[in-house]
Amino acid sequence: MRARHRADPLPKLKNVSEDDHERLRQAAKNRTVTWGTKDEELFKLVASFRNEVKDYYFSAQRRRCCYCSFELQHHKLTYDAEHILDKDEYPEYMFELNNIASVCKHCNISKSNQCISASKQRFQELSVNSNEYSIVHPHFDEWEDHFQFDEIGRIVPVDNSPKGRATMKICKIDVINIARLSDEFSFHDKDVVEQTLRAFHEVDEVIRKRELLEVISELANRYHHFGAKSIVAHLTKEIGEFVPLHT
Ligand SMILES: [Zn+2]
Repeated sequence: MRARHRADPLPKLKNVSEDDHERLRQAAKNRTVTWGTKDEELFKLVASFRNEVKDYYFSAQRRRCCYCSFELQHHKLTYDAEHILDKDEYPEYMFELNNIASVCKHCNISKSNQCISASKQRFQELSVNSNEYSIVHPHFDEWEDHFQFDEIGRIVPVDNSPKGRATMKICKIDVINIARLSDEFSFHDKDVVEQTLRAFHEVDEVIRKRELLEVISELANRYHHFGAKSIVAHLTKEIGEFVPLHT
């Protein structure tokens, strides 16, 4: 599966003049503009800015979500402009080109306004230092340095990467992983498969994991789904290598 590229920040806008960009920046600093402004004068300008940055990062990220690498669709309504430092908490960076990326709806909604400062302290400026961010930064970090797709299609942190783990948690990437795995099972069992897989990933006791895997295994065998059986085989191996966190 292909992953997103680290996208250099858009160097210069084409459809918004430097003066207008500066106007937007100032309005953001003064809290007189919002991302979804209805202000007659600013509406077209914000829309033009938003369309251009979404287009640019959509291509620069190889049409992938900046956090989960999910393939984005061309229609702009199906993905969002991500403000890496949240636009409600840091409105002054709303129009800074290196604070924006293209993101899938799931990651955008999951991340919301959660703290992404490595020090847990409020950012005093728009940092360009990767180490100051707890998550995999769309512009300063290479996705594949922190994540990989495993044999059964899950997104997993590389070498237990702290940034990878933090991004998984903040963007709820486990939800995407579980949905991908459950695709391989019968539609009629989807709910029970998702619930059981979620519990499997959450519990920390090997005995409980084995019990849950038995449920999943039975569902895989019932329909002779090859993909589902591969998942069971992989998870069985994973239990064998599992080291509980609390021992
Ligand atoms: Zn995503």
